[in-house]
Amino acid sequence: MAGLEGLHGLTIVFCDNNGIPRSRTVPASRLEDACERGVGITTLFPVFLSNDMITFAHEPLSNASGDVRLLATPERVVPLAGQPGFAWTPGRQFLVDGERSPYCARGVLERMVERAAAAGLEVRAGYELEWFVGHAGEELAPAHSGPVYSPHAMLAVDEFAAQLLADLAANGVPVGQLHAEYGLAQMEVSIGVSDPVAAADLQMLARQTIHAAARRHGLRASFAPVVDLAAAGNGWHIHSSVSRDGRNLLAGGDRQSGMTPEGEAWVAGLLRELPALASVGSPSMPSLLRRRPGYFASAFAFWGVQNREAALRLVPASRLVPDAAANVELKASDASGNPYLALAAVIGAGLAGMDDGLTLPEPIQDEPGSWPQEERERRGIHRLPETAEDAVAAVRLSAPVREALGDDLVGAWAAVRRGDADTARDMSPEDIVAAHRYRY
Ligand code: GLU
Ligand code: MG
Repeated sequence: MAGLEGLHGLTIVFCDNNGIPRSRTVPASRLEDACERGVGITTLFPVFLSNDMITFAHEPLSNASGDVRLLATPERVVPLAGQPGFAWTPGRQFLVDGERSPYCARGVLERMVERAAAAGLEVRAGYELEWFVGHAGEELAPAHSGPVYSPHAMLAVDEFAAQLLADLAANGVPVGQLHAEYGLAQMEVSIGVSDPVAAADLQMLARQTIHAAARRHGLRASFAPVVDLAAAGNGWHIHSSVSRDGRNLLAGGDRQSGMTPEGEAWVAGLLRELPALASVGSPSMPSLLRRRPGYFASAFAFWGVQNREAALRLVPASRLVPDAAANVELKASDASGNPYLALAAVIGAGLAGMDDGLTLPEPIQDEPGSWPQEERERRGIHRLPETAEDAVAAVRLSAPVREALGDDLVGAWAAVRRGDADTARDMSPEDIVAAHRYRY
């Protein structure tokens, strides 16, 4: 366990069903106690809405009685480079009798990683994060004005960018690359791959690090799926791969794009459950606004090879991409998706694909949004869920995703989706975007 010399507080962080981080901070001297017994929190966090209201529509959590223990994670206590005096740790939620809470998303993911391991499989994953960077104190004052992907755009935010790279490194978040992205004052960082639980922890830690580095430089980050309706949204794409005996099953085989039969079945499992994966990975009202055709934002359910419009983009091995790096990207994912649940759903879908020995159709290399409707119908290409009701139905209809998450959690998650939809019922898209801009 890392020592906490010179630190004052340990912040124990967990993610709710809206992708919103919630936390408790204990004095650093309480580290051991926080790891063993934790702190008491309300049982109601699973039914918090995106606007901090609470829905009581999920029967088991219908009143304010009861307590959950939030425990620190001793092997992952990180003194925060950007917040001197504080350390960060992912929280684990337990019932008072010592059982893991069925609503603990990290516990759900740990269970799915164990299930994959029991089948002899090792899953690796990594997130890439896009965000809007603006001037602090303003609702929407872009801090860079492009050109997109330009080093000149980065000049306007270079002190922040340098701080960010330094802080991410100090906090143990491995970085693949950083750039000015396509959207309004958009930036992107890709996080190196790790085991799925670490990948979700790192996603949570990266956002804390980005917020802190931005604050230090008079800036403010928005991770919201849509920051401005006129611009490209913020995707938080999930890259994953699956190995057996140390060999990546997405490479070195004789199936499409060099996948092995098991690798193909894994990707086909993700494809089959895409409506549910998209719903868990990008569940908020602004997520629905983000998934538009033509924005590289996974409007339709299909797979492609290196097709950035595809909800599932296969990145195959090649001369310059070693077998170990071949992966499949889920683009229907954003900051409002709980990363633990999103990865648990991916694993559940992939394992089911393998169990069922699925195969893939031909990949689609175009933008189906530009096809006539009849062509999409002929080829069986459908939009991913466009309403909260559709998202809830997609998860309820997906046995692998439902089983991965567990019925209690799915019940709470569904109640939250309905609660969010009720809140948004009389709001314009602009109002929905504004209400979520700084929630993540
Ligand atoms: N900004 C796009 C999204 O909403 C993704 C762009 C890209 O391909 O990186 O997901
Ligand atoms: Mg991007």
